[in-house]
Amino acid sequence: MTRVLVIDDDRLQFRLVQAHFNRFQTGSYELEWSETYEEGLSKLLTGGYAVCLLDFRLGEKDGLQLIREAAAAGCRTPIVFLTAETSGSVDIQALEAGALDYLVKGEISPRSLERSLRYALKLGETLEALRRLATRDELTGLLNRREYDRILAEEEDRAKRFDHPLALIMIDLDHFKAVNDNHGHQAGDAVLREVARRLSGSIRTVDRAARIGGEELALILVQTDRDAAVDVAKRAIKLISGAPIEVGDGFKLSVTASAGVAEMPRDAVGVPGLVAASDKALYAAKTQGRNRVVSAGGERGGP
Ligand code: GH3
Ligand code: MG
Ligand code: MG
Repeated sequence: MTRVLVIDDDRLQFRLVQAHFNRFQTGSYELEWSETYEEGLSKLLTGGYAVCLLDFRLGEKDGLQLIREAAAAGCRTPIVFLTAETSGSVDIQALEAGALDYLVKGEISPRSLERSLRYALKLGETLEALRRLATRDELTGLLNRREYDRILAEEEDRAKRFDHPLALIMIDLDHFKAVNDNHGHQAGDAVLREVARRLSGSIRTVDRAARIGGEELALILVQTDRDAAVDVAKRAIKLISGAPIEVGDGFKLSVTASAGVAEMPRDAVGVPGLVAASDKALYAAKTQGRNRVVSAGGERGGP
């Protein structure tokens, strides 16, 4: 069952759309109707719909604004724009705002609506796959370096605007070169994958884990101060060293990692300083013997 959200302030228009759905040749759809901008947006943000049909005029507000607001909140639901206007610019504006297709109300037929929905669903899947390729590291599935940079900049703005602390944990595997040298590159890859899996499972959904270099990983912790981040870092390196990692043929390896922790604004005024401070702390953790956490303030954790 494909769940479709229709956001339109005109009941008659919704009935019309519903009548078209009843004449579709393929698929089975479940229609839900939102009459207002606010209700439509909050339903859309639940992420529970496969596709959304969105009206251009919604009382005082317009659908373009809704698309932008939904996109800013991370909504990935494919949207098909409905408009009564035939003027040339509305369609382009809708597509630029993130709609995947657009239909002119007076010209909709069951066939064109069905085609448009199927097309938006398929295109949405393709875009999602592309987005994944562009933002994720292939080996571990963690955020890649580029996405890490983008999110750090975004979270810096947010942290400053709302006066929240932002913490960064840099994690580097200890003597990882030896793992590759002694057990082969494939074993090294298996270790990286498992370490990434353990880290992803240990953070809140609002936090992010990234692979920023070969065996260098980072955790971005929003609304988190240095002390809390040190606790997260200690837990993370314990998770890494806590249980041996299966690297193939039933063979298991134990690895350790070191971590450096810093916080903005306590240790730095912006992202470059935050990165430098956590890098420096990581370096200190390495020189102090590895398998430990050091913070920019000098706190230590680990053996
Ligand atoms: P340290 O404790 O000082 O961090 O020592 P280290 O050996 O971990 O550090 P070094 O920087 O000397 O070596 C990092 C190694 O990580 C070298 C490289 O072969 C390995 N590496 C980097 N990327 C990958 C990868 O994608 N897969 C595998 N298997 N190994 C990788
Ligand atoms: Mg290393
Ligand atoms: Mg390294």
